[in-house]
Amino acid sequence: MSTFESLGLSQSITEAVSAIGFESPTAIQEQAIPRLLSGEEDFVGLAQTGTGKTAAFGLPLLHRTDVALPFVQSLVLAPTRELCLQICRELESFSKNQTKLKILPVYGGADIRRQIKALEQGVQVLVATPGRLRDLMRRGKVDYTHLQQVVLDEADEMLNMGFKEEIDEILEAVPEQRRTWLFSATMPPDVRRISQDYMDNPFELSVGTQNSGNVDISHQYVVLRPAERYEALRRFLDMEPDLFGLVFCRTRRETAEVAEQLTRDGYKADAIHGDLNQAQRDRVMQGFRDRRLRILVATDVAARGIDVDNITHVFHFNIPDDLNFYTHRSGRTGRAGNKGISLVLAHPKDRHLLRKLEKVSKITFEAVEIPSGPAIFEQRLMRFFDKISEASPNPELMDYLPEIAAKFEGLSREELLLRVASATMPKKMQAYAKSKPIGQKPRADKAFLKPNESRRVFVNIGQMDINGKGELLAYLCEKGGINGADVGKIDLQKKHAFVQVEVQAAASLINKLDGQTYDGRTLRVNDGGPQPGQSNKKRRSFPKRKKGKKKFAK
Ligand code: AMP
Repeated sequence: MSTFESLGLSQSITEAVSAIGFESPTAIQEQAIPRLLSGEEDFVGLAQTGTGKTAAFGLPLLHRTDVALPFVQSLVLAPTRELCLQICRELESFSKNQTKLKILPVYGGADIRRQIKALEQGVQVLVATPGRLRDLMRRGKVDYTHLQQVVLDEADEMLNMGFKEEIDEILEAVPEQRRTWLFSATMPPDVRRISQDYMDNPFELSVGTQNSGNVDISHQYVVLRPAERYEALRRFLDMEPDLFGLVFCRTRRETAEVAEQLTRDGYKADAIHGDLNQAQRDRVMQGFRDRRLRILVATDVAARGIDVDNITHVFHFNIPDDLNFYTHRSGRTGRAGNKGISLVLAHPKDRHLLRKLEKVSKITFEAVEIPSGPAIFEQRLMRFFDKISEASPNPELMDYLPEIAAKFEGLSREELLLRVASATMPKKMQAYAKSKPIGQKPRADKAFLKPNESRRVFVNIGQMDINGKGELLAYLCEKGGINGADVGKIDLQKKHAFVQVEVQAAASLINKLDGQTYDGRTLRVNDGGPQPGQSNKKRRSFPKRKKGKKKFAK
């Protein structure tokens, strides 16, 4: 394994990096840094957030900066204010031994005059959102004479957000002989076009497979009714007291509602969405970063640029409208070698979307169970007693012990423990002990992502025997031990019926009903063969009869 020193970085930078606690370079750093340090070529890095890409471009960029020259030498473009600030924070920590180095973030929504003033005082590294930078350029406030490298970070996000024109204008204005380093999680045609139009035969590096989910993320889903979503979310939060997570919703309203409900239920949660002003957003983000908040509920747009370490779970309160957002959402966890869970609360109708996501993002979803109430209760109870058994006795309490002990005279150990737990366990937790399961069971759900396989079943009950399809369905469910949801098309004819039934349920139906009596006669329930017009292998394996030839005539 290589070290930061062996990649060719200066001593002041490697010292700063080791002071932060980075022990060895990540895959993208190992491969990109030596190229970007000395090479003159353009560079495309296909990497998601969490791979260490900021340091992959940030360290060579700082290494190449001449601190004695008070002009813009590096420009970093990023989609959001949050990401700009995040990049600046990282660059500042890498360059803490390079005194005299000036890094300036410029972004919309802040006082432009102040940014102009700061620019005039001399800056070597400018980190900007495309809109604000174009504004500053149009006012003639940015001097690119000494520009050496332009970095486009999260290029796909910038284009998703509609910064195409701004990026074109900026890349046309910068000197032709600068280097361009582009980083993107995905490579849609718009990003490809930028690399073709503005980059010179770039070296391409892909960390992991393009579009593939990070291997440190486990992709999971549960299937439930929309009305069960909030309760399911709560159960996951209650089952894992150390969970530190993001919850994605589709609309601002839903985002605010979920956060409010969580707060009402006693969770440290807040929301981030487009209705907040900058100061409010900053306050919420700081709270999340400082871990004063445990859950942040966000819309896709507002969450862009959120870059917080050690997020254990990303919940998709619903599947994103744009499936590309899934990668960006889930990429907020499983960062820097940590494991993370990305969990979709899926509606039964979402099956085809999950399947599509598996294909597009080259990931595999695993069906999981929503924690049961009794399981949460038991887990909490055990944690509570673990904590008690591990607590070190406070000597100052010893004096009170005789009086306390007197209160419990004659009580058995078990009774005492029972009373302690009952008095201290929150009501919410006690309610779990008796609560019912929610969502679909993963066992029945195993085939959820596969197209439903069904079988056609013959039943010798027809219109002459029963009053319509509804009655037949009710009878089959009641006596055949199956569920209405397992049954598809019913073809009710005069003396018999064909019923399309999910494979396992069909077996149960045949087992339970064939040979029983119905209305005084024997029931025949068996394989109904393929649907008319559909072939099956068994059939095809019989020798085909030629039409018109009476094979058995003689
Ligand atoms: P990024 O992909 O640049 O957003 O980085 C993701 C996280 O990984 C950030 O919190 C970085 O501080 C951290 N990180 C980057 N490089 C390393 C490294 N070599 N060792 C440990 N952590 C790192």
